Amino acid sequence: MTDSAPLFNRLALIGVGLIGSSIARAARAQGAVREIVASARSAATRQRVAELGLADQVVETNAAAVAGADLVIVCVPVGACGEVAKEIALHLQAGATVSDVGSVKGAIVREMGPHLPAGVHFVPAHPVAGTENSGPDAGFAELFVGRWCILTPPEGADPAAVERLAAFWRALGANVEQMPAAHHDLVLAITSHLPHLIAYTIVGTADELGEVTRSEVLKFSAGGFRDFTRIAASDPTMWRDVFLANKDAVLEMLGTFNEDLAQLTRAIRRGDGQALFDHFTRTRAIRRGIVQIGQDSPAPDFGRTHPDLPVEPLPRPYAGPDDD
Ligand code: NAP
Repeated sequence: MTDSAPLFNRLALIGVGLIGSSIARAARAQGAVREIVASARSAATRQRVAELGLADQVVETNAAAVAGADLVIVCVPVGACGEVAKEIALHLQAGATVSDVGSVKGAIVREMGPHLPAGVHFVPAHPVAGTENSGPDAGFAELFVGRWCILTPPEGADPAAVERLAAFWRALGANVEQMPAAHHDLVLAITSHLPHLIAYTIVGTADELGEVTRSEVLKFSAGGFRDFTRIAASDPTMWRDVFLANKDAVLEMLGTFNEDLAQLTRAIRRGDGQALFDHFTRTRAIRRGIVQIGQDSPAPDFGRTHPDLPVEPLPRPYAGPDDD
């Protein structure tokens, strides 16, 4: 990538947290754009972005950021994307591509789409990569390497603009797939949103147990609980918005989940070991499939290193089971 011409001339990044700053770092490292202009909501974040040298220019308003940009990527929580689209609409350059990184896509199409003028290419996107950390310091250039980026272009989108955005994500190391927004939301409801809801629930439940003290929960957390706590440490604003924006698909998946949980509950109550064994055998095969296609590490204990148990550390882009 570095020895070929940049794919875009000027990238405007609106919101520079974990995802925005990772895009800035990766786009720079790969020479995918000639110039980066960034805006963020708070003066503190804008100052930090400037200190970290993540952009060529840091400007105060979203409208100023998009002027003259041929690629605009909105990297703010899903619930704020509509407002941002409204702010930038009149300042977009004709022919620019406008995209986002939101973890829900139907709501993005509904909230952003109506504000965007004809003559710009609206191609929503979701890089399925993340960590539980937030802010411009949390990002890193390798976040998207080997991860999926899902594009959900609306019907009638210009194929050349879609392909150019796909090439941008591939330059950042991602594998690109396209699907309708509604399908994206259904798939992510089961692979990401429901697991987060379960983690939030379990960690909350453990916190409320009277007879098990907090210190015991922390001390023996390696029994499985610890992995939920990492997911449950994810950004509260982002996840509030995800559940509000993907309500229907999440409720549908929760219905199925509750039925399956009831079946397992019954098997335990009836002492039906065979039912439990069969179920766990099926799920073990799914885990092996995930490792086989390179979406996680087979290293023991999710690749954690321990002083008494040297294991191969995971490469940096490992984003854990909370790739949302
Ligand atoms: P983040 O680290 O918390 O950064 C969010 C950025 O958005 C910050 O620059 C923040 O500005 C700005 N912002 C927050 N609320 C805003 C508002 N109401 N109006 C305008 N700007 C606002 O979040 P992130 O993890 O990068 O997530 C950004 C987007 O990526 C979300 O839509 C999320 O669904 C999606 N995503 C996240 C992950 C993940 O694992 N984190 C993975 C894939 C996709 P200030 O710093 O000034 O407050």
